[in-house]
Order: sequence, then structure tokens, then C-alpha cells
Amino acid sequence: MRWRRADFNAQAAHRLTRRYGHVVIEDLDTKGMSAAVKPKPDPGRPGRFLRNGAAAKSGLNKAILDKGWYGLEVALRAKARYTGSVIHKIDPAYTSQTCPEPACGKVDEKSRKSQAIFSCTSCGHTGHADIVGARNIKAKGQAAGLVVSGRGDPSGSAKRQAPRSTARAAQAARAAA
Ligand SMILES: [Zn+2]
Repeated sequence: MRWRRADFNAQAAHRLTRRYGHVVIEDLDTKGMSAAVKPKPDPGRPGRFLRNGAAAKSGLNKAILDKGWYGLEVALRAKARYTGSVIHKIDPAYTSQTCPEPACGKVDEKSRKSQAIFSCTSCGHTGHADIVGARNIKAKGQAAGLVVSGRGDPSGSAKRQAPRSTARAAQAARAAA
């Protein structure tokens, strides 16, 4: 059986909101990133157009849309209404270049060795770039004042949140943005 994207998003959203009271996602502004590139006329040659990155951008569009971030976010918010989980969007700037070790935190683009490998130029912490990015995203969400123990965290409380505290948290997130 072939999974449709919508099924995948619904399943992922269900599992995440059932297990965690606080889900932090990157605000990728996928609408802005996938907006069409306007053709740029070449002033020296009427009727001709300058290269404007349209081809590169259409590849990026496809990658973003394939990942289905927006669909996942919509599914998360829909499920969160029932579980009381807080969905929090953070600015992803530097999350791929920042050392996730709390004692370090060095920001250096050279620490990102490749698509897959992160190796801190300051303390030497090495890990999979996706895991490093996820740790930084989580830390940013927590730093914004929305520290909610995950339901899967054995040390945390498994209490569901009342709708009122969810609303306050959403306001706090907006105020912090
Ligand atoms: Zn480091």
C-alpha cells in the first residue's frame, strides 16, 4: 500500500500531539519561499530575459512542497485542539549552524560540514545535522518561555493542558515573536 501525504501527516500529527504537550516547529515561511519568481527583462536586449534563479527556485519549491511542512502543520494544529498540545513556531535562523551543547552554543557556518554532518568548530561536538537542528529548534522553543513537559518524558508530568493555558501560551508565543 502506498501512503498518501495526507495520511502520513495525519499519522505523524496524531503521534506527536498524543505524546507531547509542546511541539516546536520551524517557521519556514513556505508561502514566501515558494512564491513564483518574476521574469527580469534584459535592458540590453528587448524581448530577452536575464537569468533570475527561476530554475533553481522551482527545484526548491518542489523540495518544500514534497516535504509537506504546511500540511503537517495544519494536521498538528487540528489534532492539538483535542489533546491541548501547544504548537509553537520558531524562527529557524542559525539552527543548522549552532552547537547544541548548552555549555558551548557556538554559531559557525563552518560547523555544518555537509548536509548530514555537524561538527562544532569550537568544542568538537559532532552529530547528525538533522538531530543538531532539532535540538536547537527545541531549545529555541523552550527559551521562548513555553516549557511544557512532553508526555513521553518520564520525568515530566503527563497532565493535559486546559484550553485556557493553551490560549495564553499562544498569546505568549505571539508576544515573543
Ligand atoms: Zn560546540
